[in-house]
Amino acid sequence: MAKQPVESPGPIPLPPHAADAAPAPVSTSLDETYQRLEDFVRSRRPADDFEALRRAFEFARERHSKQTRVSGEPYMAHPLAVAWILAEMQMDMVCLQTGLLHDTVEDTTATVDEIRKLFGEDVARCVNGVTKLSKINLHNREERQAESVRKMLLAMVEDIRVIIVKLADRLHNLRTLQSLSRERQERIAAETIELYAPIAHRLGMGKLRGELEDLGFRYLDPQAWNEVTAEIESRRQASEHGLEEIRVTVEEKLAEEHIPAKVYARVKRPWSVHQKLRKQRISIDQVYDLLGVRIITDSVKNCYAALGVIHNEWHPIPGRIKDFIAIPRPNLYQSLHTSVMGPGGVAFEVQIRTEEMHRVAEEGIAAHWKYKEGKRGPAEDDQRIAWLRQLVEWQREVRDPADFMSNLKVDLYPEEVYCFTPMGRVVVLPRDATPVDFAYSIHTHVGHTCTGAKVNGRMVPLKHGLRNGDIVEILTQNGSQPSRDWLSFVKTARARNKIRHVINATEREKAIELGQKVLEREARRLGVAMSRVTRQQMEAVAGEYGCSKIEDLQAALGWGKFSARQVLSKLAPNEVAPEAPPETPAAPTVAPERERPGSEKDYVIQVKGMNDLLTYRAKCCNAIRGEPIVGYITRGKGVAVHSKNCPNVQNLMYEAERKIDVEWARGARDSFQVRLVVHTDDRAGMLNQLTQILFSEDINIRSVEAHADEKSFDSAVVEMTVEVRDKKQLERIVTAMRRVSGVRDIERVH
Ligand code: MN
Repeated sequence: MAKQPVESPGPIPLPPHAADAAPAPVSTSLDETYQRLEDFVRSRRPADDFEALRRAFEFARERHSKQTRVSGEPYMAHPLAVAWILAEMQMDMVCLQTGLLHDTVEDTTATVDEIRKLFGEDVARCVNGVTKLSKINLHNREERQAESVRKMLLAMVEDIRVIIVKLADRLHNLRTLQSLSRERQERIAAETIELYAPIAHRLGMGKLRGELEDLGFRYLDPQAWNEVTAEIESRRQASEHGLEEIRVTVEEKLAEEHIPAKVYARVKRPWSVHQKLRKQRISIDQVYDLLGVRIITDSVKNCYAALGVIHNEWHPIPGRIKDFIAIPRPNLYQSLHTSVMGPGGVAFEVQIRTEEMHRVAEEGIAAHWKYKEGKRGPAEDDQRIAWLRQLVEWQREVRDPADFMSNLKVDLYPEEVYCFTPMGRVVVLPRDATPVDFAYSIHTHVGHTCTGAKVNGRMVPLKHGLRNGDIVEILTQNGSQPSRDWLSFVKTARARNKIRHVINATEREKAIELGQKVLEREARRLGVAMSRVTRQQMEAVAGEYGCSKIEDLQAALGWGKFSARQVLSKLAPNEVAPEAPPETPAAPTVAPERERPGSEKDYVIQVKGMNDLLTYRAKCCNAIRGEPIVGYITRGKGVAVHSKNCPNVQNLMYEAERKIDVEWARGARDSFQVRLVVHTDDRAGMLNQLTQILFSEDINIRSVEAHADEKSFDSAVVEMTVEVRDKKQLERIVTAMRRVSGVRDIERVH
């Protein structure tokens, strides 16, 4: 800016437009309109690829050829107008092409692949992004979802140009809203106010935001709009003379102090005034910033100098000075604001900023995609990323609840994902959430009966990590129940609690069943006739144990909290001694290990006499079929099955009554993973010989690895994980391996 006396731009000029305003295209032929667009862009940047722009126009026109808008114009008039808005914003070629093509995938036979082939990766990505956004069904959503939707829109776009095109699209829709039904006008206007204007604000695009809000306001509440605009106009007219006087005075005072500046009169926008009246419950006369002047100077230093000049001339209204230069708003808006008492007791607001700050205030993030002469270097991309990062960081730091803009805050939450139901409802979940989390956030019943999920139409595992913008469809089956496995991957507390609840209920049932069996078995062993025990007796004993119901006592027995023998000693004191002698080797509930001929045939683990109890093989010893095993009732996880040789078993037996007999049940043909470490001489062919043995037994090898033994120069170690059918088979292969010359030792490791 020149340091010369500032020329007055004339009586009450409007604020400068960010882009050179081109005459808006009037209804002419599509070809003519396109030609004017191309000429307009060419006049500013002759080096651009206009062949590509024309191809985009022709492709879109061809695809939209059979469609018309409600107004009766050819459909193509809309994408052309969107491209025009983007051209006025001086957006780059990718944006302009996207503007022309933005509805082709959504509304015509065109595909993203086609766009990619014809117009390249960037344009395809942007068109795809705009298409995804328009697929979101925003009707009938609840008010409180607006914030989520705003966040989601920002989080799901890979390229911020998608948002810029979408906003231009929305602006044109609003400008042509008059031909739609009242109902659709209201819906589009409400959506604009709730969703798109705050996004424009969030991205610092002040000019676009203002236009979206005022157009939206006009259709959303025409009566209020009429009232507010009439009030503003009458005040503007009444103060016109005074305001111009102020403007000239400001110019003169600044010139005296050698502060170069342009001074503009400004009037607050109708929607902002309306908001302020509504939120602060004040009258329009108390809106101090209704009228004002904006000073645009050349440096930060001169911003503060100008503020001093203003305060020297007029009396500042206390509490109205805001320094957004020192502390920018979350959307990076910077300015000094002050309200002063003007001549005749009329308050007016002064905004002071540099040209650069003004550009940011008007264009925001769009400024970074503006066409510039020459090729864009990587430094500029970095700058954009820095801009976005700064945006996110500001968002985190600026947590001032007093900030009256905070309700318009839109965060770029990296720790959340935004997904949709097939009906377009937004579901906000923590990062890496799964379809199970999604199902539970829809409804508990959907979670419980969930059996599968489709993401974007494709089947996925239930533990699949969801991504922003995924459309998630949950498959359910009545009677289906949550699985304990789900607990290992769900991310939301809600899902976890609901799953636990069901599992606990199921396990309680099983514990009750187990408790009954344990009690009956022990009664048989000790010769107590359970048939003679009355319900009242049972209830009385349950009460003694602090259980209000018989089932509670049975469950406690099943969980192993009390011993069956003790309970029996209370039920039948004459037949059962109150305490088992401490030397009793086996726990009361455990039947002595019987000889079971053929017991090493085909078995899966089951608790003796009970088919339905939860059992799992303890990881510490990983028992395989045929090995002697013992069950141990855990608290809440069912029966853990250990090998009898497992060192842990000895430790566990201090609570002997929690031990329970288990056996390898008939029928199943599963396999057991076993890890073997073979110590051998270091010689060629060893690995081959060992694996031949496995092949001859038809054993599946999960992994095998041979390496020299670091501790000894002439020996080697072969580590393998194999799947065996049972203990016998394992013994056979171990014996065979031991016979191989050079094998020194074989260990089974857990
Ligand atoms: Mn459109």
